[in-house]
Amino acid sequence: MKITTIGFWGAYPAQNSATSCYLIEDVGYSLLVDCGSGALSRLQGYISLNSIDAVILSHYHHDHVADVGVLQHARLVQTKLGHIQDKLPIYAHKEDEVGFGELSSSYTEACPYDPDTTISVRPFTISFLKTVHPVPCYGMKITNGKHTIVYTADTAYQKEWVDFSEGADLLITDTNFYKGMDAAQAGHMTSEEAASIAADADVNELWLSHLPHFGNHSRLKQEAADVFHGEVKLASEGLRWSSE
Ligand code: ZN
Repeated sequence: MKITTIGFWGAYPAQNSATSCYLIEDVGYSLLVDCGSGALSRLQGYISLNSIDAVILSHYHHDHVADVGVLQHARLVQTKLGHIQDKLPIYAHKEDEVGFGELSSSYTEACPYDPDTTISVRPFTISFLKTVHPVPCYGMKITNGKHTIVYTADTAYQKEWVDFSEGADLLITDTNFYKGMDAAQAGHMTSEEAASIAADADVNELWLSHLPHFGNHSRLKQEAADVFHGEVKLASEGLRWSSE
């Protein structure tokens, strides 16, 4: 099982980079988690777009779904060229009916997930935790039965993250604010809050992501390392975790 960071910015992409998007691969299956702005361009440095088997979305904010439309165009072009045949499944919640409806096209299939149940997206099993955010949003626990990755998506701090993340191999957190700032009013977390989840859940490794367009990111890492004594990394394009 392997995860590669494609996009890590919050809100909008800085030059030549992308907002939230991660590629998770195992036994030849490729799952895209969120598909933010700039993701399709950056993704091609790591995988052929035609090799993506499924997409799963946390919520419908632009910095998580902006490139779904152009992904649909890519599927259209590649289908017309005869390079692919199947519709691409896009898993998402249905609490935003307009957003969910837009995931369906002649080349993509909107697949609703019930956040109260665990779903199978071959070869992964995925469970959900509702986040604290201005719109309905779900964090995800993704496992292949041997290893587990938890992605908080966008969220203010809530203690439920600790149980949900317990013992994960990798925890990827929304870290959109620095220690001492009021991240909760925006539905996000600080470095200190993110790291406290990692420490309390005793995860193996912490990635700080959904990074802000202000301040010095090395400070986020230091603030997190003061709280969580395992491995802490700042998300960056190409940052990879592998179970091998
Ligand atoms: Zn959001």
